[in-house]
Amino acid sequence: MRKQIAAANWKMNLSYQQAAGLLDELLAQQIELAPNQEVIFAVPFPYLAMAKEKVAGKTNYFVAAQNCSDKKSGAYTGETSVEQLQSIGIGHIVIGHSERREYYNESNAVLATKVDLCLAAGVTPIFCCGEPLPIREAETQNAFVQQQLEESLFHLTVEQVSKVVIAYEPIWAIGTGKTASTQQAQDMQQHLRKVLADKFGADVADGISILYGGSVKAANAVEIFASPDVDGGLVGGASLQAAEFTAIIQALK
Ligand code: PEP
Repeated sequence: MRKQIAAANWKMNLSYQQAAGLLDELLAQQIELAPNQEVIFAVPFPYLAMAKEKVAGKTNYFVAAQNCSDKKSGAYTGETSVEQLQSIGIGHIVIGHSERREYYNESNAVLATKVDLCLAAGVTPIFCCGEPLPIREAETQNAFVQQQLEESLFHLTVEQVSKVVIAYEPIWAIGTGKTASTQQAQDMQQHLRKVLADKFGADVADGISILYGGSVKAANAVEIFASPDVDGGLVGGASLQAAEFTAIIQALK
């Protein structure tokens, strides 16, 4: 059974105190997760240790970094390596969010390196992909997102790719309040699973969790997550409110 995941992406929001308060409020709900369900909080770097402490002992609750360096170690002022994150117990890193691709020029090739560094350190990359609006309007989204997978993941072995979580996030739906329709999300995610099956085999593709991201909220999560190829969500805005994110967790299959 594939993992069903509710991942919160806090981006560059919240003070330390607000972040601690939000985690306290959420964790106080004592939401019981089924063995195949996971909740992941991708928090700003300075809050990683605090968040780790808060989820300690909670089964299937994890903390993720939102980014990592594409270098292993050394003279890269201001960067944080996968190994450093791993050394404080971080087991998941969001790789290639569209905001990183757009504002920090992260290419598919750089993201392939980051994925490699994660896997070498035993860290799960949550690999983001998705098309901008003009590509969707030109109806070439399938080829566009397929290329992102080909250029960042297709060099992996079967064993390695099985450890990757994919998040499909159509850029036109991120932070816009405009959600992809349930059918649009399912169609793309079915396509991506087929692309993975053609390259790595059906069994491998069947085991890879593919999350949907783009204006997921309490009101639409049940319907979106119900689709057969949608294995939960990567959630921005709605993850900053305890009641909203609680409902999203409860919407997991
Ligand atoms: C995101 O940050 O990955 C995201 C999907 O944001 P939002 O839920 O706000 O659209």
